Amino acid sequence: MRVTIDQTDLELVQGDITHQTTDAIVNAANSSLLGGGGVDGAIHRAGGPSILAECQRIGGCPTGKACITGAGYLAARYVIHAVGPLYHGDGDREQVAALLSSAYHHSLVLAAQHGVRSIAFPSISTGAYGYPVNAAAEVALTTVIAYMRQHTDIELVRFVLFDAGTFAVYRQVLERLMATDAPPQ
Ligand code: ADP
Repeated sequence: MRVTIDQTDLELVQGDITHQTTDAIVNAANSSLLGGGGVDGAIHRAGGPSILAECQRIGGCPTGKACITGAGYLAARYVIHAVGPLYHGDGDREQVAALLSSAYHHSLVLAAQHGVRSIAFPSISTGAYGYPVNAAAEVALTTVIAYMRQHTDIELVRFVLFDAGTFAVYRQVLERLMATDAPPQ
């Protein structure tokens, strides 16, 4: 699925983020930046040891923020390591939503600072970190659309959803947002 937000493109695809040829791909990292499972494990396996070596030099990244490294053997030029929140249940829903939104926003700002024109995101926090996909998709897409309405520096944002269920939820949420969220006149 592809929609145009002002002059920029927002795409949803089902696939593996390590195969993307966008200028940057985003990793769902943890704050140690020292590697984990899921998408993080896949990126370090496919990209080789230089990414972890750079992460070690950076030394960590707080939740809600993002850090940037090269991309080793991957086709992308950069890996942006975004740290989403661990989902603890419904108690601190607004706080975790703000942290998730911040992880996406910081990734986009960092990408733009490095001249990135195209970027691919995974579904941050919805794997090991347990964020419900429907709520996470709403935060992710709302944050990215708000950025795209305000900036034209990044021409393509692509969400690469690993499994059919996550892809279907993102598509449903994007369709709803596009139907209700008319562009400003
Ligand atoms: P988190 O710890 O932020 O929850 P995970 O890596 O556990 O991160 O999961 C985030 C999402 O990334 C999940 O939807 C998971 O299925 C997905 N994922 C796992 N491997 C890949 C991959 N190679 N490409 C894209 N998405 C992936």
